[in-house]
Amino acid sequence: MVRAVFPGSFDPVHNGHIDIALRAAKLFDELVVAVYDKPHKDLLFSPQERLELVQEAFQGHHRIQATLFSGLTVDFCRKNNLQVIVRGLRVFSDFEHEFRMALANHHLAPEIEVVALITSEDHSFLSGSTVKEIASLGGDVSEFVPEHVRILIKERMKDQTDSFPVNSLRD
Ligand code: ADP
Repeated sequence: MVRAVFPGSFDPVHNGHIDIALRAAKLFDELVVAVYDKPHKDLLFSPQERLELVQEAFQGHHRIQATLFSGLTVDFCRKNNLQVIVRGLRVFSDFEHEFRMALANHHLAPEIEVVALITSEDHSFLSGSTVKEIASLGGDVSEFVPEHVRILIKERMKDQTDSFPVNSLRD
């Protein structure tokens, strides 16, 4: 039985993540979507909120579970008997980061394999920060996230518009 983990910050979970997780769930017996509690990023949602959004996104998928984690991904894998780390690749710039992380993880835990799935064309530009930027500027994100995520982003943006960092979509 092969159990895999799909780790990330999921702030918030979007259709690019969901696509990768559903495709990975076809390749492995079980998939754990692991929400990193404190990534070095500007976060809109708390760890618990990010976890709940992920849980709702995969409700009914009996081979996909979600959990919070902290610390090294390879330690989480060893503790939970997970043999594969799944990552998604969107653009060339992802590759360098993912390549370095995969080599570091393989050095730390040679028994754990890293499998990278290429994004679907429709999702190649999608990231948590793009979704947040679009929403913070009043754009419609319903094409990019499930409805329960859209509702929570909209609510949160009411209080955050001034303080949320917007980098590119005003250009
Ligand atoms: P984001 O970059 O959207 O904030 P995370 O940091 O949570 O996402 O990333 C978790 C994993 O999901 C990473 O391997 C990342 O490359 C992958 N991922 C994120 N967005 C997409 C996408 N649109 N298509 C494929 N993989 C993606």
